[in-house]
Amino acid sequence: MVLRPCPTGRRTFDGMDNISRRSLLSAGLGAGLVAAWPGAAVAVSTADDAGLRADPFLLGIASGEPWPDGFVIWTRLAVDPVAGDGLGGMPSRNVAVAWEVAEDAGMRTVVARGVEQARIETAHSVHVELRGLRPGREYFYRFRTGRHISPVGRALTSPALHETPAALAMSFASCAQYEHGYFTAYARLAQDHPDLVLHLGDYLYEYKKDSYVIGGGNPRDHEGPETTSLAGYRQRHAQYKADADLQAAHAVAPWLVVWDDHEVDNNWADEIPENRDAGQLNDTTERFRQRRAAAFQAYYENMPLRPSSVPAGFDMKIYRTIQWGQLANFHMMDTRQYRDDQLAGDGWKKNVAERLAEDRTITGAEQEKWLLEGFRNSTQRWDILGQQVFFAERDRNQAPEIDDVSMDGWDGYAASRRRITQGWVDANVRNAVVLTGDVHRNWANDVKVDYKDPASPVVGSELVCTSITSTGNGSGSTTDPVMAWNPHLKFFNDNRGYVNTRITKEAMTADFRTLDYVTTPGSPVSTKASFAIRDGVPAGGG
Ligand code: FE
Ligand code: CA
Repeated sequence: MVLRPCPTGRRTFDGMDNISRRSLLSAGLGAGLVAAWPGAAVAVSTADDAGLRADPFLLGIASGEPWPDGFVIWTRLAVDPVAGDGLGGMPSRNVAVAWEVAEDAGMRTVVARGVEQARIETAHSVHVELRGLRPGREYFYRFRTGRHISPVGRALTSPALHETPAALAMSFASCAQYEHGYFTAYARLAQDHPDLVLHLGDYLYEYKKDSYVIGGGNPRDHEGPETTSLAGYRQRHAQYKADADLQAAHAVAPWLVVWDDHEVDNNWADEIPENRDAGQLNDTTERFRQRRAAAFQAYYENMPLRPSSVPAGFDMKIYRTIQWGQLANFHMMDTRQYRDDQLAGDGWKKNVAERLAEDRTITGAEQEKWLLEGFRNSTQRWDILGQQVFFAERDRNQAPEIDDVSMDGWDGYAASRRRITQGWVDANVRNAVVLTGDVHRNWANDVKVDYKDPASPVVGSELVCTSITSTGNGSGSTTDPVMAWNPHLKFFNDNRGYVNTRITKEAMTADFRTLDYVTTPGSPVSTKASFAIRDGVPAGGG
Protein backbone atom coordinates (compact mmCIF):
# COMPACT_ATOMS: atom_id res chain seq x y z
CA MET A 1 0.00 0.00 0.00
CA VAL A 2 2.32 2.75 -1.20
CA LEU A 3 -0.02 5.04 -3.10
CA ARG A 4 0.81 8.67 -2.53
CA PRO A 5 -1.93 11.28 -2.57
CA CYS A 6 -1.02 13.33 -5.60
CA PRO A 7 -4.21 15.00 -6.73
CA THR A 8 -2.69 17.26 -9.33
CA GLY A 9 0.51 15.51 -10.20
CA ARG A 10 2.38 18.53 -8.89
CA ARG A 11 2.86 17.59 -5.28
CA THR A 12 3.35 14.48 -3.21
CA PHE A 13 3.46 13.86 0.53
CA ASP A 14 7.14 13.03 0.47
CA GLY A 15 10.04 15.07 -0.75
CA MET A 16 8.73 18.42 0.49
CA ASP A 17 11.03 20.30 2.77
CA ASN A 18 8.62 22.79 4.21
CA ILE A 19 5.25 21.34 4.94
CA SER A 20 2.48 23.79 4.41
CA ARG A 21 -0.84 22.35 5.38
CA ARG A 22 -2.72 24.19 2.71
CA SER A 23 -0.35 23.43 -0.12
CA LEU A 24 0.13 19.85 1.02
CA LEU A 25 -3.39 18.81 1.72
CA SER A 26 -5.47 21.07 -0.41
CA ALA A 27 -3.45 20.82 -3.57
CA GLY A 28 -5.91 20.85 -6.40
CA LEU A 29 -8.85 21.78 -4.21
CA GLY A 30 -9.38 25.22 -5.68
CA ALA A 31 -12.62 26.96 -6.45
CA GLY A 32 -13.33 24.65 -9.35
CA LEU A 33 -13.52 21.63 -7.10
CA VAL A 34 -15.58 23.45 -4.52
CA ALA A 35 -18.24 23.77 -7.16
CA ALA A 36 -17.78 20.07 -7.91
CA TRP A 37 -18.59 18.94 -4.36
CA PRO A 38 -21.34 16.45 -5.03
CA GLY A 39 -23.44 17.46 -2.08
CA ALA A 40 -26.25 19.32 -3.77
CA ALA A 41 -28.75 17.05 -2.04
CA VAL A 42 -27.13 17.69 1.33
CA ALA A 43 -28.41 20.51 3.50
CA VAL A 44 -25.57 22.37 5.14
CA SER A 45 -25.37 25.76 6.75
CA THR A 46 -25.27 28.65 4.35
CA ALA A 47 -22.17 30.25 3.00
CA ASP A 48 -23.24 33.62 4.34
CA ASP A 49 -23.21 32.61 8.00
CA ALA A 50 -21.57 35.54 9.75
CA GLY A 51 -19.91 33.29 12.34
CA LEU A 52 -18.31 31.15 9.70
CA ARG A 53 -17.07 33.81 7.36
CA ALA A 54 -13.62 32.63 8.46
CA ASP A 55 -12.27 29.15 7.73
CA PRO A 56 -13.58 26.83 10.51
CA PHE A 57 -11.18 23.96 9.67
CA LEU A 58 -8.20 25.44 11.52
CA LEU A 59 -7.83 22.30 13.70
CA GLY A 60 -7.37 19.99 10.74
CA ILE A 61 -8.84 16.55 10.22
CA ALA A 62 -7.98 13.06 11.47
CA SER A 63 -8.85 9.41 11.13
CA GLY A 64 -8.45 6.50 13.52
CA GLU A 65 -9.50 3.05 14.73
CA PRO A 66 -9.27 1.12 11.45
CA TRP A 67 -11.41 -1.99 11.21
CA PRO A 68 -11.84 -4.25 8.16
CA ASP A 69 -15.00 -2.38 7.12
CA GLY A 70 -14.31 1.18 8.21
CA PHE A 71 -12.66 3.72 10.47
CA VAL A 72 -13.48 6.97 12.26
CA ILE A 73 -13.05 10.35 10.64
CA TRP A 74 -12.84 13.44 12.80
CA THR A 75 -12.81 17.18 12.68
CA ARG A 76 -13.59 20.00 15.09
CA LEU A 77 -14.67 23.42 13.94
CA ALA A 78 -12.89 26.51 15.25
CA VAL A 79 -12.29 29.95 13.81
CA ASP A 80 -10.25 31.14 16.82
CA PRO A 81 -8.50 28.02 18.19
CA VAL A 82 -7.17 29.52 21.43
CA ALA A 83 -10.37 31.30 22.51
CA GLY A 84 -10.32 31.28 26.32
CA ASP A 85 -13.74 29.63 26.70
CA GLY A 86 -12.47 26.59 24.78
CA LEU A 87 -15.18 26.98 22.13
CA GLY A 88 -12.93 28.08 19.29
CA GLY A 89 -14.75 31.32 18.52
CA MET A 90 -17.71 29.37 17.13
CA PRO A 91 -21.30 30.64 17.22
CA SER A 92 -23.43 29.23 20.03
CA ARG A 93 -25.45 26.89 17.86
CA ASN A 94 -24.96 23.56 16.14
CA VAL A 95 -23.40 23.62 12.67
CA ALA A 96 -24.08 21.04 9.96
CA VAL A 97 -20.95 19.51 8.47
CA ALA A 98 -21.02 17.42 5.29
CA TRP A 99 -18.40 14.69 4.87
CA GLU A 100 -17.35 12.40 2.08
CA VAL A 101 -15.03 9.42 1.64
CA ALA A 102 -13.44 8.60 -1.70
CA GLU A 103 -11.09 6.06 -3.21
CA ASP A 104 -8.81 8.74 -4.62
CA ALA A 105 -7.07 11.78 -3.18
CA GLY A 106 -8.76 13.96 -5.78
CA MET A 107 -12.11 12.97 -4.19
CA ARG A 108 -13.59 11.95 -7.55
CA THR A 109 -14.69 8.38 -6.71
CA VAL A 110 -16.83 9.03 -3.65
CA VAL A 111 -17.99 5.87 -1.88
CA ALA A 112 -19.75 7.36 1.16
CA ARG A 113 -21.10 10.73 2.20
CA GLY A 114 -23.38 12.25 4.80
CA VAL A 115 -24.00 15.09 7.21
CA GLU A 116 -23.26 15.35 10.93
CA GLN A 117 -24.09 18.08 13.39
CA ALA A 118 -21.09 19.74 15.00
CA ARG A 119 -22.70 20.30 18.38
CA ILE A 120 -22.06 23.04 20.91
CA GLU A 121 -22.02 20.50 23.74
CA THR A 122 -19.06 18.67 22.16
CA ALA A 123 -17.21 21.89 21.25
CA HIS A 124 -18.24 21.51 17.59
CA SER A 125 -16.38 18.24 17.16
CA VAL A 126 -17.51 15.67 14.58
CA HIS A 127 -16.92 11.91 14.73
CA VAL A 128 -18.15 9.78 11.83
CA GLU A 129 -17.93 6.01 12.27
CA LEU A 130 -17.73 4.51 8.78
CA ARG A 131 -19.01 1.02 7.98
CA GLY A 132 -19.37 -1.03 4.84
CA LEU A 133 -16.02 -0.17 3.27
CA ARG A 134 -13.72 -2.76 1.74
CA PRO A 135 -10.94 -4.33 3.84
CA GLY A 136 -7.27 -3.57 3.39
CA ARG A 137 -7.86 -0.43 1.31
CA GLU A 138 -6.71 3.15 1.18
CA TYR A 139 -9.38 5.87 1.33
CA PHE A 140 -9.50 9.66 1.44
CA TYR A 141 -11.93 11.96 3.23
CA ARG A 142 -12.83 15.60 3.73
CA PHE A 143 -15.48 17.81 5.34
CA ARG A 144 -17.43 20.85 4.22
CA THR A 145 -19.57 23.49 5.84
CA GLY A 146 -20.96 26.36 3.84
CA ARG A 147 -18.33 27.41 1.33
CA HIS A 148 -15.49 26.06 3.47
CA ILE A 149 -13.84 22.76 2.57
CA SER A 150 -11.38 20.98 4.83
CA PRO A 151 -8.04 19.53 3.81
CA VAL A 152 -8.12 15.95 2.50
CA GLY A 153 -6.96 13.19 4.82
CA ARG A 154 -5.86 9.63 4.09
CA ALA A 155 -7.25 6.65 5.98
CA LEU A 156 -7.07 2.88 5.63
CA THR A 157 -9.26 -0.03 6.52
CA SER A 158 -7.47 -2.91 8.23
CA PRO A 159 -7.11 -6.17 6.29
CA ALA A 160 -9.82 -8.84 6.44
CA LEU A 161 -9.39 -10.86 9.63
CA HIS A 162 -8.32 -14.06 7.85
CA GLU A 163 -5.76 -12.34 5.61
CA THR A 164 -2.06 -11.87 6.19
CA PRO A 165 -0.90 -8.72 4.42
CA ALA A 166 2.66 -8.69 3.12
CA ALA A 167 3.72 -5.76 5.29
CA LEU A 168 2.53 -2.93 7.49
CA ALA A 169 4.37 0.39 7.90
CA MET A 170 3.53 1.57 11.43
CA SER A 171 5.03 4.57 13.20
CA PHE A 172 4.79 5.36 16.88
CA ALA A 173 5.43 8.46 18.96
CA SER A 174 4.78 10.10 22.32
CA CYS A 175 5.39 13.20 24.42
CA ALA A 176 4.83 16.39 22.49
CA GLN A 177 5.36 19.32 24.86
CA TYR A 178 4.33 22.26 22.66
CA GLU A 179 6.47 24.69 24.64
CA HIS A 180 9.66 22.63 24.33
CA GLY A 181 9.97 22.80 20.58
CA TYR A 182 8.48 22.70 17.12
CA PHE A 183 6.58 19.62 15.98
CA THR A 184 8.99 18.98 13.08
CA ALA A 185 9.10 15.31 14.08
CA TYR A 186 5.39 15.01 13.26
CA ALA A 187 6.03 16.57 9.83
CA ARG A 188 8.88 14.14 9.18
CA LEU A 189 6.72 11.24 10.31
CA ALA A 190 4.09 12.34 7.78
CA GLN A 191 6.71 12.51 5.04
CA ASP A 192 7.71 8.91 5.85
CA HIS A 193 4.13 8.00 4.92
CA PRO A 194 3.15 5.25 7.38
CA ASP A 195 -0.10 3.31 7.05
CA LEU A 196 -0.80 3.41 10.80
CA VAL A 197 0.33 5.67 13.65
CA LEU A 198 0.29 4.77 17.34
CA HIS A 199 0.41 7.63 19.83
CA LEU A 200 1.40 6.38 23.28
CA GLY A 201 0.48 9.39 25.37
CA ASP A 202 1.48 12.86 26.49
CA TYR A 203 -0.22 14.12 23.35
CA LEU A 204 -0.37 17.41 25.21
CA TYR A 205 0.79 18.84 28.52
CA GLU A 206 -1.34 20.46 31.19
CA TYR A 207 1.09 23.12 32.42
CA LYS A 208 0.69 26.86 32.30
CA LYS A 209 3.31 29.00 30.61
CA ASP A 210 6.71 29.18 32.36
CA SER A 211 6.12 26.21 34.67
CA TYR A 212 7.99 23.50 32.67
CA VAL A 213 10.98 25.23 31.11
CA ILE A 214 13.96 23.73 29.28
CA GLY A 215 17.52 25.05 29.45
CA GLY A 216 17.80 28.11 27.24
CA GLY A 217 14.10 28.85 27.64
CA ASN A 218 11.00 27.56 25.90
CA PRO A 219 10.69 28.53 22.24
CA ARG A 220 6.89 28.80 22.48
CA ASP A 221 4.24 29.06 25.19
CA HIS A 222 0.97 27.45 26.20
CA GLU A 223 -2.14 29.61 26.23
CA GLY A 224 -4.17 29.73 29.40
CA PRO A 225 -3.75 28.46 32.96
CA GLU A 226 -2.86 24.88 33.96
CA THR A 227 -5.66 22.81 32.49
CA THR A 228 -8.20 21.79 35.10
CA SER A 229 -11.56 22.80 33.57
CA LEU A 230 -13.37 21.62 30.46
CA ALA A 231 -12.77 25.04 28.87
CA GLY A 232 -9.08 24.79 29.66
CA TYR A 233 -8.60 21.29 28.26
CA ARG A 234 -10.58 22.21 25.13
CA GLN A 235 -8.47 25.32 24.60
CA ARG A 236 -5.23 23.33 25.06
CA HIS A 237 -6.30 20.61 22.62
CA ALA A 238 -7.20 23.30 20.09
CA GLN A 239 -3.86 25.05 20.50
CA TYR A 240 -2.08 21.77 19.70
CA LYS A 241 -4.40 20.77 16.89
CA ALA A 242 -3.81 24.15 15.20
CA ASP A 243 -0.17 23.14 14.63
CA ALA A 244 0.42 22.45 10.91
CA ASP A 245 3.02 19.71 11.55
CA LEU A 246 0.68 17.79 13.86
CA GLN A 247 -2.10 18.20 11.28
CA ALA A 248 0.13 16.69 8.59
CA ALA A 249 0.77 13.62 10.77
CA HIS A 250 -2.95 13.15 11.41
CA ALA A 251 -3.75 13.59 7.71
CA VAL A 252 -1.34 10.92 6.49
CA ALA A 253 -2.77 7.82 8.20
CA PRO A 254 -5.23 6.57 10.81
CA TRP A 255 -4.06 6.83 14.43
CA LEU A 256 -4.53 4.64 17.49
CA VAL A 257 -4.29 6.88 20.53
CA VAL A 258 -3.94 6.21 24.23
CA TRP A 259 -3.28 8.81 26.89
CA ASP A 260 -0.58 8.84 29.54
CA ASP A 261 -0.56 11.27 32.44
CA HIS A 262 -0.25 14.79 31.01
CA GLU A 263 -3.57 14.66 29.19
CA VAL A 264 -4.99 14.92 32.73
CA ASP A 265 -2.35 15.73 35.39
CA ASN A 266 1.31 14.79 35.86
CA ASN A 267 1.65 11.24 37.28
CA TRP A 268 -2.02 10.85 38.20
CA ALA A 269 -3.08 7.40 39.34
CA ASP A 270 -6.74 6.40 39.18
CA GLU A 271 -8.50 8.95 41.40
CA ILE A 272 -5.32 10.34 42.91
CA PRO A 273 -3.72 13.52 41.50
CA GLU A 274 -0.03 14.34 41.53
CA ASN A 275 -0.47 16.91 44.27
CA ARG A 276 -3.31 18.03 46.47
CA ASP A 277 -3.03 21.78 46.02
CA ALA A 278 -5.36 23.80 48.23
CA GLY A 279 -8.09 25.50 46.25
CA GLN A 280 -7.34 23.68 42.98
CA LEU A 281 -9.18 20.84 41.29
CA ASN A 282 -6.74 18.51 43.02
CA ASP A 283 -7.56 19.11 46.62
CA THR A 284 -10.18 16.41 47.13
CA THR A 285 -11.02 13.13 45.43
CA GLU A 286 -14.37 14.52 44.37
CA ARG A 287 -12.78 17.55 42.74
CA PHE A 288 -10.10 15.46 41.04
CA ARG A 289 -12.91 13.33 39.61
CA GLN A 290 -14.38 16.51 38.11
CA ARG A 291 -10.99 17.40 36.64
CA ARG A 292 -10.57 13.89 35.21
CA ALA A 293 -14.06 14.04 33.68
CA ALA A 294 -13.22 17.37 32.02
CA ALA A 295 -9.94 16.02 30.67
CA PHE A 296 -11.60 12.86 29.34
CA GLN A 297 -14.45 14.79 27.72
CA ALA A 298 -11.99 17.07 25.89
CA TYR A 299 -9.81 14.08 24.96
CA TYR A 300 -12.74 12.30 23.35
CA GLU A 301 -13.87 15.45 21.55
CA ASN A 302 -10.42 15.96 20.04
CA MET A 303 -9.38 12.43 19.10
CA PRO A 304 -10.51 10.09 16.28
CA LEU A 305 -11.93 7.53 18.72
CA ARG A 306 -14.98 5.33 18.27
CA PRO A 307 -18.21 6.32 20.06
CA SER A 308 -17.64 3.23 22.25
CA SER A 309 -15.02 5.35 24.02
CA VAL A 310 -17.42 8.21 24.88
CA PRO A 311 -16.73 9.03 28.53
CA ALA A 312 -19.27 8.28 31.21
CA GLY A 313 -18.62 10.89 33.88
CA PHE A 314 -15.07 10.42 35.13
CA ASP A 315 -14.66 7.01 33.45
CA MET A 316 -13.59 6.45 29.86
CA LYS A 317 -12.62 3.11 28.36
CA ILE A 318 -9.71 3.38 25.94
CA TYR A 319 -8.12 -0.07 26.21
CA ARG A 320 -8.95 -2.11 23.13
CA THR A 321 -7.43 -4.42 20.52
CA ILE A 322 -7.16 -3.51 16.85
CA GLN A 323 -6.41 -6.47 14.60
CA TRP A 324 -4.36 -6.16 11.43
CA GLY A 325 -5.52 -9.32 9.72
CA GLN A 326 -3.44 -12.30 10.83
CA LEU A 327 -0.30 -10.16 10.88
CA ALA A 328 -0.67 -8.27 14.16
CA ASN A 329 -2.78 -7.42 17.17
CA PHE A 330 -2.41 -3.96 18.63
CA HIS A 331 -3.38 -4.18 22.29
CA MET A 332 -3.80 -0.52 23.22
CA MET A 333 -3.52 -0.16 26.99
CA ASP A 334 -4.42 2.31 29.74
CA THR A 335 -1.89 2.18 32.59
CA ARG A 336 -3.27 5.31 34.35
CA GLN A 337 -6.97 4.97 35.00
CA TYR A 338 -6.94 1.73 37.00
CA ARG A 339 -3.51 1.71 38.65
CA ASP A 340 -2.65 1.60 42.33
CA ASP A 341 -1.05 4.78 43.58
CA GLN A 342 2.70 5.14 43.09
CA LEU A 343 4.58 3.97 46.17
CA ALA A 344 6.74 6.04 48.50
CA GLY A 345 5.54 9.38 47.16
CA ASP A 346 6.44 8.56 43.53
CA GLY A 347 9.76 9.29 41.79
CA TRP A 348 12.94 7.15 41.85
CA LYS A 349 13.16 5.29 45.16
CA LYS A 350 15.57 2.82 46.73
CA ASN A 351 14.63 -0.60 48.06
CA VAL A 352 10.86 -0.13 48.22
CA ALA A 353 9.90 -3.71 49.07
CA GLU A 354 6.16 -3.12 48.51
CA ARG A 355 6.76 -2.64 44.79
CA LEU A 356 7.00 -6.44 44.58
CA ALA A 357 3.67 -7.04 46.37
CA GLU A 358 1.51 -9.59 44.58
CA ASP A 359 -1.65 -7.52 44.79
CA ARG A 360 -0.24 -4.40 43.15
CA THR A 361 -1.63 -3.54 39.73
CA ILE A 362 -0.89 -0.98 37.02
CA THR A 363 -3.69 -2.26 34.75
CA GLY A 364 -6.53 -3.04 37.13
CA ALA A 365 -8.01 -6.55 37.27
CA GLU A 366 -10.43 -6.18 34.36
CA GLN A 367 -7.87 -4.87 31.90
CA GLU A 368 -5.41 -7.56 32.95
CA LYS A 369 -8.05 -10.25 32.34
CA TRP A 370 -8.86 -8.72 28.93
CA LEU A 371 -5.19 -8.67 27.93
CA LEU A 372 -4.48 -12.23 29.09
CA GLU A 373 -7.56 -13.45 27.20
CA GLY A 374 -6.30 -11.55 24.16
CA PHE A 375 -3.02 -13.44 24.38
CA ARG A 376 -4.83 -16.79 24.69
CA ASN A 377 -7.10 -16.05 21.72
CA SER A 378 -4.40 -14.63 19.48
CA THR A 379 -3.70 -16.32 16.16
CA GLN A 380 -1.69 -13.35 14.92
CA ARG A 381 2.00 -13.37 14.09
CA TRP A 382 2.77 -10.33 16.29
CA ASP A 383 1.12 -9.28 19.55
CA ILE A 384 2.02 -5.63 20.09
CA LEU A 385 1.30 -3.80 23.33
CA GLY A 386 0.80 -0.05 22.78
CA GLN A 387 1.30 1.37 26.25
CA GLN A 388 2.76 4.23 28.19
CA VAL A 389 5.49 3.61 30.76
CA PHE A 390 8.87 1.81 30.90
CA PHE A 391 8.25 -1.94 30.98
CA ALA A 392 11.60 -3.70 31.46
CA GLU A 393 13.43 -3.48 34.78
CA ARG A 394 15.70 -0.43 34.98
CA ASP A 395 17.72 -0.29 38.19
CA ARG A 396 19.89 2.79 38.25
CA ASN A 397 21.97 1.68 41.26
CA GLN A 398 24.89 -0.62 40.49
CA ALA A 399 25.08 -2.27 43.92
CA PRO A 400 23.22 -5.59 43.85
CA GLU A 401 21.80 -5.02 47.34
CA ILE A 402 20.24 -1.69 46.34
CA ASP A 403 17.52 -1.33 43.75
CA ASP A 404 16.69 2.22 42.71
CA VAL A 405 13.79 2.25 40.27
CA SER A 406 11.02 4.56 39.07
CA MET A 407 7.82 4.13 41.07
CA ASP A 408 5.78 5.40 38.08
CA GLY A 409 6.82 2.69 35.58
CA TRP A 410 6.22 -1.08 35.63
CA ASP A 411 9.09 -1.43 38.13
CA GLY A 412 6.71 0.04 40.70
CA TYR A 413 4.22 -2.72 39.86
CA ALA A 414 6.55 -5.69 39.39
CA ALA A 415 3.96 -8.42 40.03
CA SER A 416 1.62 -6.84 37.48
CA ARG A 417 4.46 -6.94 34.94
CA ARG A 418 5.28 -10.55 35.78
CA ARG A 419 1.63 -11.62 35.32
CA ILE A 420 1.45 -9.96 31.88
CA THR A 421 4.81 -11.34 30.75
CA GLN A 422 4.09 -14.85 32.07
CA GLY A 423 0.65 -14.54 30.47
CA TRP A 424 2.00 -14.28 26.95
CA VAL A 425 4.54 -17.05 27.64
CA ASP A 426 1.79 -19.35 28.94
CA ALA A 427 -0.43 -18.51 25.95
CA ASN A 428 2.38 -19.38 23.53
CA VAL A 429 2.16 -15.95 21.95
CA ARG A 430 4.41 -16.20 18.93
CA ASN A 431 6.04 -12.74 19.12
CA ALA A 432 5.38 -10.21 21.87
CA VAL A 433 6.59 -6.62 21.46
CA VAL A 434 5.97 -3.87 24.01
CA LEU A 435 5.89 -0.29 22.70
CA THR A 436 6.56 2.45 25.21
CA GLY A 437 6.63 6.26 25.47
CA ASP A 438 6.97 8.51 28.53
CA VAL A 439 10.72 8.66 29.15
CA HIS A 440 11.73 11.06 26.34
CA ARG A 441 14.61 8.83 25.23
CA ASN A 442 14.96 5.88 22.89
CA TRP A 443 15.56 2.45 24.38
CA ALA A 444 15.54 -1.08 22.96
CA ASN A 445 15.21 -3.81 25.57
CA ASP A 446 14.91 -7.52 26.00
CA VAL A 447 11.90 -8.53 28.09
CA LYS A 448 12.31 -11.35 30.62
CA VAL A 449 10.05 -12.94 33.20
CA ASP A 450 12.71 -12.55 35.89
CA TYR A 451 15.35 -9.85 35.45
CA LYS A 452 17.29 -10.93 38.55
CA ASP A 453 17.96 -14.39 37.11
CA PRO A 454 20.59 -14.35 34.34
CA ALA A 455 19.27 -17.74 33.19
CA SER A 456 15.74 -16.42 32.70
CA PRO A 457 15.13 -16.48 28.93
CA VAL A 458 14.27 -13.50 26.77
CA VAL A 459 10.54 -13.76 26.02
CA GLY A 460 9.80 -10.48 24.24
CA SER A 461 11.12 -7.13 23.14
CA GLU A 462 10.47 -3.54 24.18
CA LEU A 463 10.91 -0.56 21.87
CA VAL A 464 10.79 2.87 23.51
CA CYS A 465 10.20 5.92 21.32
CA THR A 466 11.74 9.19 22.34
CA SER A 467 9.66 12.36 22.61
CA ILE A 468 8.45 14.54 19.76
CA THR A 469 9.75 17.62 21.66
CA SER A 470 9.69 17.08 25.43
CA THR A 471 12.91 18.20 27.18
CA GLY A 472 14.16 20.02 24.07
CA ASN A 473 16.96 19.21 21.63
CA GLY A 474 18.70 16.42 23.57
CA SER A 475 22.39 15.58 23.84
CA GLY A 476 22.57 12.95 21.12
CA SER A 477 24.25 10.62 23.62
CA THR A 478 23.90 6.88 22.99
CA THR A 479 25.24 5.71 26.33
CA ASP A 480 23.49 5.44 29.65
CA PRO A 481 25.64 4.01 32.44
CA VAL A 482 22.81 1.79 33.72
CA MET A 483 23.20 -0.44 30.67
CA ALA A 484 26.40 -1.85 32.24
CA TRP A 485 24.48 -3.60 35.04
CA ASN A 486 21.14 -3.98 33.24
CA PRO A 487 22.34 -6.16 30.33
CA HIS A 488 18.81 -6.58 28.93
CA LEU A 489 18.82 -2.83 28.09
CA LYS A 490 20.44 -2.89 24.64
CA PHE A 491 20.18 0.60 23.24
CA PHE A 492 19.80 4.17 24.45
CA ASN A 493 19.61 7.48 22.63
CA ASP A 494 18.91 11.06 23.64
CA ASN A 495 17.43 12.84 20.63
CA ARG A 496 13.90 13.80 19.76
CA GLY A 497 11.96 11.89 17.09
CA TYR A 498 9.75 8.86 16.51
CA VAL A 499 10.04 5.22 15.45
CA ASN A 500 9.14 3.73 12.08
CA THR A 501 8.40 0.02 12.04
CA ARG A 502 7.87 -2.38 9.20
CA ILE A 503 6.00 -5.51 10.18
CA THR A 504 6.05 -8.65 8.03
CA LYS A 505 5.59 -12.35 8.73
CA GLU A 506 9.36 -12.74 8.98
CA ALA A 507 10.39 -9.73 11.07
CA MET A 508 9.49 -6.47 12.75
CA THR A 509 12.11 -3.86 11.95
CA ALA A 510 12.34 -0.55 13.79
CA ASP A 511 14.11 2.58 12.57
CA PHE A 512 14.78 5.07 15.36
CA ARG A 513 14.23 8.35 13.49
CA THR A 514 15.89 11.33 15.16
CA LEU A 515 16.05 15.07 14.68
CA ASP A 516 19.10 17.28 15.13
CA TYR A 517 17.10 19.96 16.95
CA VAL A 518 13.54 20.97 17.85
CA THR A 519 13.85 24.41 19.46
CA THR A 520 13.96 25.94 16.00
CA PRO A 521 11.90 24.67 13.06
CA GLY A 522 13.02 22.62 10.11
CA SER A 523 15.43 19.98 11.41
CA PRO A 524 16.26 17.18 9.00
CA VAL A 525 15.59 13.62 10.16
CA SER A 526 17.86 10.61 10.02
CA THR A 527 17.89 7.03 11.29
CA LYS A 528 20.04 6.79 14.40
CA ALA A 529 19.72 3.02 14.78
CA SER A 530 17.71 0.14 13.37
CA PHE A 531 16.60 -3.05 15.05
CA ALA A 532 15.11 -6.23 13.67
CA ILE A 533 13.04 -8.61 15.75
CA ARG A 534 12.84 -11.87 13.85
CA ASP A 535 9.83 -14.13 13.95
CA GLY A 536 10.24 -16.64 16.76
CA VAL A 537 13.45 -15.02 18.09
CA PRO A 538 12.55 -12.64 20.89
CA ALA A 539 16.09 -11.36 21.45
CA GLY A 540 16.37 -8.48 19.00
CA GLY A 541 19.49 -8.01 16.93
CA GLY A 542 21.03 -4.70 15.85
FE1 FE B 1 6.10 12.94 28.59
CA1 CA C 1 21.17 -2.08 42.11
